[in-house]
Amino acid sequence: MTIQNELMRRANELKQLINKYNHLYYVSDNPEVSDSEYDRLFNELKQIELDDPELLTADSPTQRVGGAALDKFNQVTHALPMLSLDNAFNAEELQSFDQRVSDWLNTTESPTYAAEPKLDGLAISLRYQQGVLVQAATRGDGAVGEDVTANVRTITSIPLKLLGNDIPDIVEIRGEIFMPKIGFERLNKAQIADNKKPFVNPRNAAAGSLRQLDSKITAARPLEIYCYGLGEIQGMERPQSHSESMNLIASWGCRISPELQQVSGVENCLNYIEQLNRRRDSLPYEIDGVVFKVDKISLQERLGFVSRAPRWAIAYKFPAQQEITVIEAIEIQVGRTGALTPVARLKPVFVGGVTVSNATLHNQDEIDRKDVRVGDTVIVRRAGDVIPEVVQVVMSKRPKNTVNFSIPTLCPICQSEVEKAEGEAIARCSGGLYCPAQRKEAIKHFASRKAMDVDGLGDKLVEQLVDEGLINDPADLFQLSIEQLSSLERMGEKSAINLVTALQAAKHTKFARFLFSLGIREAGEATTRSLASHFLTLDALTSANEAALIEIEDVGPIVAHHIVTFFQQAHNQKVIERLLDAGVDWPEEQKIAADSILSDKTIVLTGTLEQMSRSEAKEKLLALGAKIAGSVSNKTDYVVAGRDAGSKLTKAEKLGVTVLNEQAMLDWFK
Ligand code: NAD
Repeated sequence: MTIQNELMRRANELKQLINKYNHLYYVSDNPEVSDSEYDRLFNELKQIELDDPELLTADSPTQRVGGAALDKFNQVTHALPMLSLDNAFNAEELQSFDQRVSDWLNTTESPTYAAEPKLDGLAISLRYQQGVLVQAATRGDGAVGEDVTANVRTITSIPLKLLGNDIPDIVEIRGEIFMPKIGFERLNKAQIADNKKPFVNPRNAAAGSLRQLDSKITAARPLEIYCYGLGEIQGMERPQSHSESMNLIASWGCRISPELQQVSGVENCLNYIEQLNRRRDSLPYEIDGVVFKVDKISLQERLGFVSRAPRWAIAYKFPAQQEITVIEAIEIQVGRTGALTPVARLKPVFVGGVTVSNATLHNQDEIDRKDVRVGDTVIVRRAGDVIPEVVQVVMSKRPKNTVNFSIPTLCPICQSEVEKAEGEAIARCSGGLYCPAQRKEAIKHFASRKAMDVDGLGDKLVEQLVDEGLINDPADLFQLSIEQLSSLERMGEKSAINLVTALQAAKHTKFARFLFSLGIREAGEATTRSLASHFLTLDALTSANEAALIEIEDVGPIVAHHIVTFFQQAHNQKVIERLLDAGVDWPEEQKIAADSILSDKTIVLTGTLEQMSRSEAKEKLLALGAKIAGSVSNKTDYVVAGRDAGSKLTKAEKLGVTVLNEQAMLDWFK
């Protein structure tokens, strides 16, 4: 085949594929490939057509907008076409957009742009006659959309009547209807509870919720709007800039993005992108990029548009947070507490800005609900620092002969039996410290900063020590000799000496830390602190029964049960005995007097302290009976604000909580 023929074949193949994906995405609200996969195919086709304009046909998807309007709705012909946007995926592409704009305008100056988030929802046109909402239509194929007026009327943030006196005879306001993240989560929980299929992402949920024949369904869905432009306008002059249009729209009572800003020059555009991308995960709604629009309408008019997008705007796309890949295997990880977590080993895929090759499947219930199997093509999501997760199986791509996956009945590490308590989703290995997986995790936890704080004993080294058979439990750590340690690979004598010294130092600890380091299930820092200050001695604690334990703050019946069970186990008793024999000790706990100056006061520390570290301050405050909280609320008694205190200080001031400086705190310690 000649190169020319090959290109034509590929172009046709891409057109067919993209048309199919468009239909699934725009018409059925049920995408089969990720947006980034779609963008790749779309850009490949665009490049082929650019290289050989003869291959560019009028019916190419690169020349068209969206998908056809569904027959089930009345159709609406847009007075002005509703276009799509061209994309930029990196700084260079943004730079060349800016250059293109300047070239077209025949100037060397970069124009001022209006920048706003690219919301991930669906476009809507709202038509107001004499200020009254008379029609709402989806974008459809850009020329003809779907009449969704009845549904749109149920969205409370869309005014049925515009406010003010300065209202044109006819105005069409355009915006994006979206579903906030929190509403999306709630909706999906309800879908699951009703045995209905959850939505893949908030965009699909928004589109699916708006395009309903029964507007009661739309009314029950948490939809919102941000308006971002004007379409047709009659009986009033069109404002001179996009920013002015937005102010006008806002004055009519329509919601516009609070992030809207004017920026000039590519450098500032990139800064805007960066600051918004940093806040992406904390915004209450999903965004997939930033839209830059040449602000002046006269310049927009000079620039005009090409087939499917205006020349005066660009959508800068952030890295996708959802991708599609294949599950190559499902493996079981055993955690410190023996919890068995199924993990999908994925064909590596770039998502959320990193390459992901594992995704958690949580537990058997989740596997069953999503019907995840080895060999499946799946949608994987990674947003922010959250562990990547399998959102959904693409059923149409399931290969033949796949089988259901079940968590094994024996621990894959130590072959002990796997238990699953009534009503609990998590399966656990019953092997305890006998199970090497739990052993490693238990020792890592024991040595960690908030526990015994053994300097220089990192996770890798613990694994090496267990693998070499040098330690089996935390007590073995204190028997390690310099010779044994220096014989390890990658460990010199100096490091060996340092580690032994660090272990000696770590022996002298606090009672609460010691308890925390034991890794009793569900006994976190706060609980072990309460246990220490209540029981004062290890003997008193180990002889307490569940009834005595639940008297204590932070201890409920489940934790009480875990504590009692823990101390009953012979192997745990042995480890504790050996730890004490090795010289682990702590200063005697003092009962905090009920009249201690800070007893039962809740304190929040914020900003940088000058005289002592935050953890030192925390210890001292606890010793005076205070409770330390991480965030400010009505229950906070004092906020101690160090240098550069930020939002917590503002909140304290707003709530009228007493704010003290560092010196006032030091006065308590005198
Ligand atoms: P687009 O989403 O890239 O950009 C245009 C749209 O952005 C507008 O119609 C509007 O709805 C929206 N928008 C959001 N905020 C805006 C703002 N502030 N100002 C102006 N517009 C704003 O273009 P498109 O044509 O709707 O869709 C193409 C994209 O959709 C693709 O790049 C891909 O990501 C996705 N897609 C995915 C599939 C799939 O199968 N996964 C299929 C088709 C399309």
